[in-house]
Amino acid sequence: MSLTNAGGSPAYRILAIETSCDETAAAVVADGRHILSNRVASQIELHRRFGGVYPEVASRQHVLAIQTVVEEALADVSVAHVRELDAIAVTHGPGLAGSLLVGVNLAKGLAFASGLPLIPVNHLEGHIYSNWLYPDCSPGVESSASEDGNGRTQRGGSAFDQFPALLLIVSGGHTELVLMEGHCRYRLLGATLDDAAGEAFDKVARLLELGYPGGPAIQAAAESGDAGRFHLPRPLMRPGRRTERQPDAKASLLPTVLPVQGEHRFNFSFSGLKTAVLNLMRQLEREGTEARQTQTAADIAAAFQMAVVDVLVGKTADAAAEFGVKQVCICGGVSANGLLRRAAEQHFAKIGLPLHCPPLFLCTDNAAMIGAAAYYRQSYVPARQPSPMGHEHRQHAQEVAHSTPHDQRSEPPARDFLALDVYASLPLVDSVER
Ligand code: ADP
Ligand code: MG
Repeated sequence: MSLTNAGGSPAYRILAIETSCDETAAAVVADGRHILSNRVASQIELHRRFGGVYPEVASRQHVLAIQTVVEEALADVSVAHVRELDAIAVTHGPGLAGSLLVGVNLAKGLAFASGLPLIPVNHLEGHIYSNWLYPDCSPGVESSASEDGNGRTQRGGSAFDQFPALLLIVSGGHTELVLMEGHCRYRLLGATLDDAAGEAFDKVARLLELGYPGGPAIQAAAESGDAGRFHLPRPLMRPGRRTERQPDAKASLLPTVLPVQGEHRFNFSFSGLKTAVLNLMRQLEREGTEARQTQTAADIAAAFQMAVVDVLVGKTADAAAEFGVKQVCICGGVSANGLLRRAAEQHFAKIGLPLHCPPLFLCTDNAAMIGAAAYYRQSYVPARQPSPMGHEHRQHAQEVAHSTPHDQRSEPPARDFLALDVYASLPLVDSVER
């Protein structure tokens, strides 16, 4: 496929690979924003019987699926050999080490064989750049419009290059508020002190025996639940000014709770909320009320979902005001949550601040977001600048990718690719920069 960008020059096409957890994914992205192909082989069915991701099973499944998924992505753009593209990107952390290894080793092999630059990508930066993809302007993608959880069809709505931007990253493994000062420049404002929001959804769904994965299961159960029947805590929030409640969020405490002040103002904590659900279930059982798989479960699910959304939106709104941001972007698996999207939309529309959430198919793990992040990292991070991960041994691998600006690409020495390692824990922003 021949493709030119708006300036008439050939598009820069990246093959991206993502295997950090339980999705085997490959994509081809042009100029960081256009999705030419986006293939995801989900392992959800495989892990359902374990009630969570079984790491060894995940790695083995990646080994079985990866070749087909990459071949499908290349076939989508009518590319016979990867060397017809411009670069290869791969997630090298954070994630399950055994899963990451599968994608990283394949990417290293492809880079070795083709001589293309290899760009290692932080998975969280991938989630961030899911907001920069144009889902609807992408040749080769059948239909990228998706429902937003409230039955409305979402089209486009990509973030724009105006900074500072506030990022709320909410996934199965992370909950972070990040100030984005420019492309690939981040300041960590706060993070969860214990469980991530998605992890809390998954654990509470398990307690209520609602099924796996927990986020969509809680959301579905909450639809027929009464969020006002039980009161659950809003961790790291305090009572605020009492104002009129929002009309369609009857059990939301949003207008009446504010983030705590001090060092935990932008931090989160969801472990206590999960324990509060457990204690509530025990109390109900003592009183003779069955909590699992009943209307009571739906009511607890609704109360829990509302508590999480109150905290997420309350803290995001507070940070947006504090730092005078020009736009707010929400990303990661939990950004698929309909109530979160609706509550954030309501709040930011009221104060006239642009809000972006990726379309649903880009909320959970995919490789298109990795291709987008790789493009911006390659374009905006000058060679030999210390990596934002801040560790010398990572810098070496980063330099390999950054030393080849795309207007004057030459084949980097293949042996350098072999230094690329995987990281189960890889912060987006090093703690010293906080
Ligand atoms: P990770 O990058 O940590 O592997 P993902 O970005 O793939 O995580 O997101 C997975 C998480 O998103 C899971 O914890 C899942 O329960 C949660 N999730 C997915 N859809 C929803 C939803 N509709 N509501 C709430 N949480 C959701
Ligand atoms: Mg993810």
